[in-house]
Amino acid sequence: MSDSVKKFPIGGTHLPEEKGLTSDEPIIALPVPAEVLIPLKQHLGVPVKPAVKVGDRVQRGTLIGHKADGLSARVHSSVAGEITEITDALFPDGTRVPAIRIRADQSDQESEERLEPIGIDGLSDAAFRDAIIRRVEEAGIVGLGGATFPTHVKLASTDAIDTVIVNGAECEPYITVDDRLMQEEAHKVFRGLDIVRRLLGAKQGYVACEINKPVALEQLRKVAKDFPNIAAQALDTRYPHGAEKHLVKAVLNREVPIRALPGSVGVLVNNVQTVCAIADAVDEGRVLFDRVVTVSGHGVTTPRNLRVPLGASVANAIAFCDGESEPDPAVIVGGPMTGMRVTDFTIPVTKATSGIILLTETEYRGSLHMACIRCGKCVEVCPMYLPPNRMTAYINNDMLDEAISAGLEACILCGACQFVCPSKRPLLEWINHGKAAAAARRSR
Ligand code: SF4
Ligand code: SF4
Repeated sequence: MSDSVKKFPIGGTHLPEEKGLTSDEPIIALPVPAEVLIPLKQHLGVPVKPAVKVGDRVQRGTLIGHKADGLSARVHSSVAGEITEITDALFPDGTRVPAIRIRADQSDQESEERLEPIGIDGLSDAAFRDAIIRRVEEAGIVGLGGATFPTHVKLASTDAIDTVIVNGAECEPYITVDDRLMQEEAHKVFRGLDIVRRLLGAKQGYVACEINKPVALEQLRKVAKDFPNIAAQALDTRYPHGAEKHLVKAVLNREVPIRALPGSVGVLVNNVQTVCAIADAVDEGRVLFDRVVTVSGHGVTTPRNLRVPLGASVANAIAFCDGESEPDPAVIVGGPMTGMRVTDFTIPVTKATSGIILLTETEYRGSLHMACIRCGKCVEVCPMYLPPNRMTAYINNDMLDEAISAGLEACILCGACQFVCPSKRPLLEWINHGKAAAAARRSR
C-alpha cells in the first residue's frame, strides 16, 4: 500500500465538487419501468444486429443484440417482458441509433439469465486469457467510465503491459458512481483488477482514488491487504486526474505520448465499474444489463445513486428522485464538464451514462458569453499545455490547419479551459466543432 498522495505536475484546476449531495447515498435500484428502449449501439464502434423480433419474450440478461462485423459489444435485455418494436433511439448528441423497445412484465423481474460461472483455478495462463476475454465479450462489457470501448478488444491488445490501473479518480463534479462502488464493493474492484492483471501478465496494479473520497480510500486500503500485487493509491484532488494520460503520469510518472494510448508505456487503465462488471461476469456469469448512475444537482429534489436498467429513460430516473426541485432546470447527461445538455427526457440510459445532473439556471454556465479578455487562464489550466483561446479563435475563423498546428488533436476535451474562462466562452463546444471538422476532412 502506498501512503503518498500523488498528482500530475502541471495544469489542471480545482473544481467545486458538489459530491456531498450523493457521496453518502447508497446505490439503490431504480424500479423496473413500464418499458425500456435499449439502443443497439452502446459502445464505440458499429451497432449490433437484433437477435430478437417483435413478439419475442425475453428475460433480464437475454441476448438481444448480436455482435456485428467490426468493433462492437453485445447488448442484453435489462427487463423481463415482450419485444414491442424495433425502432431507433435519440442520443444526447442528437443522433439516432437502432434500438429495441421492450414492454416490461411487472410480475417477473427477479430472475435473470446468467452465463455459467468460469472455473479459473488451475487454468494455464493461455487458457485463462482465452476464457476471460471470451467471457467479457459474451457479457457485453465496455468501458463504463464513458468511453465505451469494447473491453474484450482492449484486453486482447498485444502491448506488453506491466501495470494495470483502476481509474477511481472520478474528478467530474457531482458524479459519485465510482466513489459509491469503491465504498460498497471495494473487494469486487480488487478482484476485477486482479483478473485483468493476471490475464495481461502484469506484475502490479493500483486502484487510484482522489483524497476527496476518504471512505472509499479507507475501504480500498483495507482490502489491499488481501491482494499482494495491488495497492490503493491516493491522488490529490485536481481536474482532470481521471484523464488516462494524467492518471498514468500521476501514479507512475510515465509520459504517454500525444496520439498514443497508455499501452505504449506498458499500462492498461480500466474504470471502477468496468472491473466490477468483469468480476461479476467471471464469478457469477452476470451479463451487463444495468449500470450505476448518479442523479444529482440542486435542480433535482432527492439526489441519489441509482442502479438503472439500461434503456430506462432520463425521465424515469428523474421521477424516481422525486422530480425537479424548481421549474426547467438544465439537464445534463454525463458530468457537467464533459456531458451534454438535453431537452428530450425520453433519451435512454446507456452503458455510457455516468450521471444525470440537474442544474438550476443560475448554476448552469451555458448562458451568454462575452469577448475574450486575454486573461490567459485557459492556457494556465490546460493539462495538455495547449492555447485554447488561440485554438478556438482559429476554429471560429475556419482556419482548421492553424487550429491543428496549435494542438487541436491533442486536446482531451476535459473542459477545464471552459470552466475557468471568466467570459464564459463555450470553448469546449468550439473545440468539439473543430475536432468534428478535422475528422470529416480526414475521412474525405
Ligand atoms: S484545450 Fe482541451 S485539453 Fe486543454 S483545457 Fe481545454 S478541453 Fe482540456
Ligand atoms: S480564459 Fe477565456 S477570456 Fe481568458 S484568455 Fe482564455 S478564452 Fe480568453
